[in-house]
Amino acid sequence: MTEMGLFDLTGKVAVVTGGNGGIGLGIARGLAQAGAAIAVVGRQAAKLEASVADLQGLGVQAAGFACDVTDAASVAALPGEVAARLGRLDILVNNAGTNIRKRPEDLAADEWHQVIDTNLTSAFLCAKACYPLMKAAGGGKVINNGSMLSIFGAPWSSAYAASKGGVVQLTKSLATAWAADNIQVNCILPGWIDTDLTKRAREQIDDLHDNVLKRTPAGRWGKPEDFAGVAVFLAATASDFLTGTALPVDGGYSIAI
Ligand code: NDP
Repeated sequence: MTEMGLFDLTGKVAVVTGGNGGIGLGIARGLAQAGAAIAVVGRQAAKLEASVADLQGLGVQAAGFACDVTDAASVAALPGEVAARLGRLDILVNNAGTNIRKRPEDLAADEWHQVIDTNLTSAFLCAKACYPLMKAAGGGKVINNGSMLSIFGAPWSSAYAASKGGVVQLTKSLATAWAADNIQVNCILPGWIDTDLTKRAREQIDDLHDNVLKRTPAGRWGKPEDFAGVAVFLAATASDFLTGTALPVDGGYSIAI
């Protein structure tokens, strides 16, 4: 195999949930630059359209799929729609996510369920739905998006941290279940990244901007494009013997005191 072949995704099809903005679009752009066709999944039509045009501009096939990842029936139908449109399905990126920042004593049960359903249950449903196509193709890659709150806690993050801790354990279980099918399942743990999600956090958490700069050894917030390379690695042949891991992509945030 050539060195390029290790990271070449030509002929592969990747589904990226929440690929219409933020970290998901950074990942989708990375996979596209390595040659993959992209199925972008999200709820907002205008954002879907803009991201598809952006990805097509990189010279690959891309198509938008309006789907709420908390809706089990829509998720079950998704892989068939992707294969009909783009021909196959090799890579799944479970990136869609949300947060409701409240202290646990103020968090309503339906808010708890909304966060768990969007961040954790969706990853299970999407992976389960994509599995038959990956198995039939002789292998595949699942990349789950965790968080620093997969490993730390915060007063405003009970549901979010529970969901993101769960994503790490789900990753390990799927990895063990599907290793014999040549499907590798790994997880990334982003540090603080400048996106719509954290614009709200900066408004809601005092001094967040400066504290992130101080606490992060790299001395900056992450950017969506920081996820392009790690996504290509985890989606490509280069990582075929790597499975079940949780990889911090955080400028050193999680290894510094
Ligand atoms: P964004 O808000 O920019 O992106 C979230 C994406 O998820 C949107 O594209 C949104 O699309 C999609 N989405 C949300 N809910 C649903 C749903 N029910 N069905 C389908 N799509 C949905 O935030 P980020 O890019 O920051 O977040 C992406 C992931 O990264 C999340 O899992 C987040 O928890 C994680 N993360 C982010 C960090 C950060 O610092 N930014 C740090 C650690 C983890 P649409 O609105 O069209 O539905």
